[in-house]
Amino acid sequence: MKGYFDHAATTPLRPEVIAEMQRILTEVYGNPSSIHGYGRQAAMELELARDTIASSLGVKAHEIVFTSGGTESDNTAIIGVAESRQEQGRHLITTTIEHPAVLETMHYLETQGFEVTYLPVDEKGQLHVTDLEAALRPDTTLVSIMYANNETGNLLPIAEIAEVLQDHPAIFHTDAVQAYGKVMIRPKELGIDLLSTSAHKFNGPKGVGFLYKSDQTPLPAYLHGGEQEEKRRAGTENLASICGMAKAISLLTPEQQEREREKYRSFGKIVTDHLAEAGVKWQLNGDSQQKLPQVLNLRFPGVTNDLLLLKLDLKGLAISTGSACTAGNIEPSHVLEAMYGHKSPATKESIRISFGYGNTTEDVTLFAKELTELVKSAQ
Ligand code: PLP
Repeated sequence: MKGYFDHAATTPLRPEVIAEMQRILTEVYGNPSSIHGYGRQAAMELELARDTIASSLGVKAHEIVFTSGGTESDNTAIIGVAESRQEQGRHLITTTIEHPAVLETMHYLETQGFEVTYLPVDEKGQLHVTDLEAALRPDTTLVSIMYANNETGNLLPIAEIAEVLQDHPAIFHTDAVQAYGKVMIRPKELGIDLLSTSAHKFNGPKGVGFLYKSDQTPLPAYLHGGEQEEKRRAGTENLASICGMAKAISLLTPEQQEREREKYRSFGKIVTDHLAEAGVKWQLNGDSQQKLPQVLNLRFPGVTNDLLLLKLDLKGLAISTGSACTAGNIEPSHVLEAMYGHKSPATKESIRISFGYGNTTEDVTLFAKELTELVKSAQ
């Protein structure tokens, strides 16, 4: 993990999570839907995991629906609300900086006759709530706005958004994949109806997550089949992963999250101090006042980011030039384009460094030195 600085793409499993998954895989192999003792034991573990997760958000256990991760949670929430409320209206609102799991789902709904408003962001990547107020219409049925952005780490004004929506019947969904486990989230206090998460972003396993669905939010099933998850998500539950996810979140108490934010703030400072001392030109992409310290998106004018990524990779150092899910193709970052405009050179000169479990001050110092040297020689 020494050179891994791409925790916004995915994170390593914590040893406690591996131990918990191993316990379930070897000892609790019954099907939670079976009525014999093996099944009942599995069902009990499933409900314990649900309790742990529900209490991390301060919600009721049955408001948690297990899914295969962020993408499924987003699709379930967005398509479910749009289709089931189309009598009331066919207008949806989201932002230009969402993850493809939301954006592509919205594009799909556009092909089905829905109208989508994509709210802009400013140069800091921040959303202005006045834009949301202006976009809301009587036929708006859903507002889907991410909690934290995966490329800049920006925290969006979720509390203000929820307040605006209090006087509007639209359902409020938030993609909290990057925020859950990093900041304390209280959906009920904020007025969030639906919330998506994914375990592999907080040191849990890949391919598992959950959707928080408030009691007051009816939502049709997305997957049809068995009666699992109170008929809200068919398919035998991925028990070992679900229990691993619950273990991962149990290790991230609000106090622990605060300590981690402090640590990652200091890591970010190590990097920027090294750059400043060497006289390297850099600029932060994002809102320094409202962001997760885990993510540091930096622009180095005159330095090509994919070359920088390759040179760092040769040294065993991993960063990203965009979100992992779109990094396979060389499309410029839609988030940076939303901030700086189409074809802005920023999209080719920016990298995302993201800190996480396993990174130490020594690792970060070494990384900062290598990065500074490479950028300095290229500028
Ligand atoms: N939403 C955001 C903000 C993300 O960062 C990601 C993953 O990168 C996803 C959704 C998709 O989650 P998953 O990989 O669990 O499908």
